[in-house]
Amino acid sequence: MNGPTRTEGDVARQVDELVGGLDPSAAKEAVAEAAGRLVALGREGVACLVRGALRRGAGRREKAAALLGCLTGEPARWALRELERLLNTRSPNPTEQVWMTVLLRRLEEATSGEGAARGGRGLADDALDDEGELLLWREEFAALSTADQQAALAPVLQDGTPALLRLLEAAMSLQLPHVDAAIAGGLARFATPEALPLLRDLMRRRDPGVRKAARASLVALQRQGVAAREVFVARAGSSEPVWAALATPPGPDGRMLVVVARGRGHGLLRFAAVAVDPVELGIATAWGEVGLTAGDFQARLGEYGRKTGQRLVRVEPNTAQALVAAAEEYALRQGRALPADYLVWRRCVGGPERAVQLPVVFGPACSECGARVRSGDFSRGGVIAGRAAVCARCVAKPLACSGCGRALNRHTEEVFARQSAEGARVEFICERCARA
Ligand SMILES: [Zn+2]
Ligand SMILES: [Zn+2]
Repeated sequence: MNGPTRTEGDVARQVDELVGGLDPSAAKEAVAEAAGRLVALGREGVACLVRGALRRGAGRREKAAALLGCLTGEPARWALRELERLLNTRSPNPTEQVWMTVLLRRLEEATSGEGAARGGRGLADDALDDEGELLLWREEFAALSTADQQAALAPVLQDGTPALLRLLEAAMSLQLPHVDAAIAGGLARFATPEALPLLRDLMRRRDPGVRKAARASLVALQRQGVAAREVFVARAGSSEPVWAALATPPGPDGRMLVVVARGRGHGLLRFAAVAVDPVELGIATAWGEVGLTAGDFQARLGEYGRKTGQRLVRVEPNTAQALVAAAEEYALRQGRALPADYLVWRRCVGGPERAVQLPVVFGPACSECGARVRSGDFSRGGVIAGRAAVCARCVAKPLACSGCGRALNRHTEEVFARQSAEGARVEFICERCARA
């Protein structure tokens, strides 16, 4: 036999065998040994692994990430070139894009030293700071099989870069126990206080396995010098300054819309809108937009006003943030899961810096009989006026106008509700007194 001549097909087959036989959770030495065999296949072998990793199935990306993570020097440069070529020649979907940029970052570190890489590529960071992109990625991630979801998360969890926490947050917002468990364990690699808000959420999940993994990661972070005690107050916030905070006055069912917009100087704005329900849901819905000019933002506010007949008025940012934080606490106390989109947008809202009296009470009680007011009360005359509420049963009793004292008849005249001067009760007044 003559000396071995390798064809491309041979190399591809050998790479396939190598990947097929790899257990990415095996000891580091075993993975490094497999990476050594890959390097022995030469530049084409490394390139073949990079290309093949984009095919779905059998945890390919997880295995490829483990192997590529072992490369240094020239072989790392081969992988880097192939990844860059792929990024330029095909338009990756959001999951592929994340996978490739995480790997790119790691390979750049391996070839050019940490400092240069961190300051370098902003591609992943840009996508990770855009809620619209994150929601697209999450949609795509949600459609993957359980095994592919694990594979997509693996390189992110191995990376440990704080910017990637936003991606994990988006994945967590789906509230899937197997995803939560993987993230809860992997957060031990993110030795930064920025991991604490995520751990705090995971420690409040229903699944005991998730809670246990989150507690273990918290202990691990503490050992790495992160002030774990702050996990109880930790709240993820945006670094962009608040540009405007607005809210609608509470409706007769207590609901309010809270809007927080952020942006710098004359740059573009982003906003998050959260519908707050103090009676049942806590957080009813949330949405938002990025990349708006100030004019676009004003137009959105105008549209909302025309559609709903409600006017958003400026409030102190701290009040807006305290309202949303109280709504979240209320939802969790009631054992409700938070809406997935809220979990992506809440960073734009941010947390309050100090306690304030809120314009509504979460879980309001009837000021007449003390019973809890529920959403069913509102269709039967029950009403919320600011921090006071009255149930349907008490409202059915004879009412007198608190302005002129005469008896009110709800069937023949319009009756208005308002918060009493001291704020503790709901008062009813006739139309004439309401106008005066
Ligand atoms: Zn009552
Ligand atoms: Zn009156």
